[in-house]
Amino acid sequence: MTGTIQTIGVIGAGQMGSGIAQVAAQAGFDILMQDISAERVESAMATIDGNMARQTEKDAISEPDRMAAMKRISAAKGMAGLAEADMVIETATEDETVKRKIFAELCPLLQPEAILATNTSSISITRLASTTDRPERFIGIHFMNPVPKMELVEVIRGIATEDETFETSKAFVAKLGKTVAVSEDFPAFMVNRILLPMINEAIYTLYEGVGSVEGIDTAMRLGAHHPMGPLQLADFIGLDTCLSIMQVLYEGLADSKYRPCPLLVKYVEAGWLGRKTNRGFYDYRGEVPVPTR
Ligand code: NAD
Repeated sequence: MTGTIQTIGVIGAGQMGSGIAQVAAQAGFDILMQDISAERVESAMATIDGNMARQTEKDAISEPDRMAAMKRISAAKGMAGLAEADMVIETATEDETVKRKIFAELCPLLQPEAILATNTSSISITRLASTTDRPERFIGIHFMNPVPKMELVEVIRGIATEDETFETSKAFVAKLGKTVAVSEDFPAFMVNRILLPMINEAIYTLYEGVGSVEGIDTAMRLGAHHPMGPLQLADFIGLDTCLSIMQVLYEGLADSKYRPCPLLVKYVEAGWLGRKTNRGFYDYRGEVPVPTR
């Protein structure tokens, strides 16, 4: 038996929140978007509209389907606007304090049977669940970036997650047309446990002067057939998110092999967070990306 999900709340209208809202709306769910910044919700809606318009141009979706999907997405009126949601997906900044504050405000407003999911890339699902009033209905649903394009979603149970929450969440992901990978609840789960140490190592390779930004990215694109170089990928993920994941791995597994590269720390301290701030290992302010070192 799985519960019925129709209305999805999305908290955090950043790059992941807009992608999740888009694919869920296209799959027929009603979406309520919430962000600490109302402008982020507006710009997420504009991004979704633009993405779907491009799909329409390519005949990937029809114009009536695009319009119907857009109609299913609306801005929630504050956190209280999420009260009617059957499931809320939290996809705010990768910071445990931020997420805990959101759950503390949200939980008293939710229906008792509503499922609370987090899109965290690395933080313990069990620990986050324990701060809520519903560890049984709390789960990790970890989407990949960009959400409309990537086929995989990791589903992670906390120690207390009930079977029904797990089954409903897997059925939800399947309805989005994505493949589920079930991961145990360990720091950074599966994909990022493998991917982020590689990106961190690429940053060390740059830091130690073994190669330049372009040299390292070309090496991995042509030498390992990666579709994107690791530094390009780091900029795409967001350097703040990359650093948070490395810190969770380093602290959670207590192994020095996960030490975040000091150069990654420096870029984050500078506010050079990659594509989302127009500067990271590349500068995106001109027509073509230019390496920053
Ligand atoms: P982002 O910086 O693009 O967006 C984060 C959003 O959260 C912003 O719009 C911000 O205003 C909002 N926010 C911050 N505090 C808030 C609060 N208290 N209440 C409501 N909204 C708040 O980040 P992102 O890349 O979309 O990442 C979001 C989450 O998704 C993180 O947990 C991250 O680890 C995870 N994730 C990211 C990727 C990736 O490749 N970027 C992939 C998978 C999962």
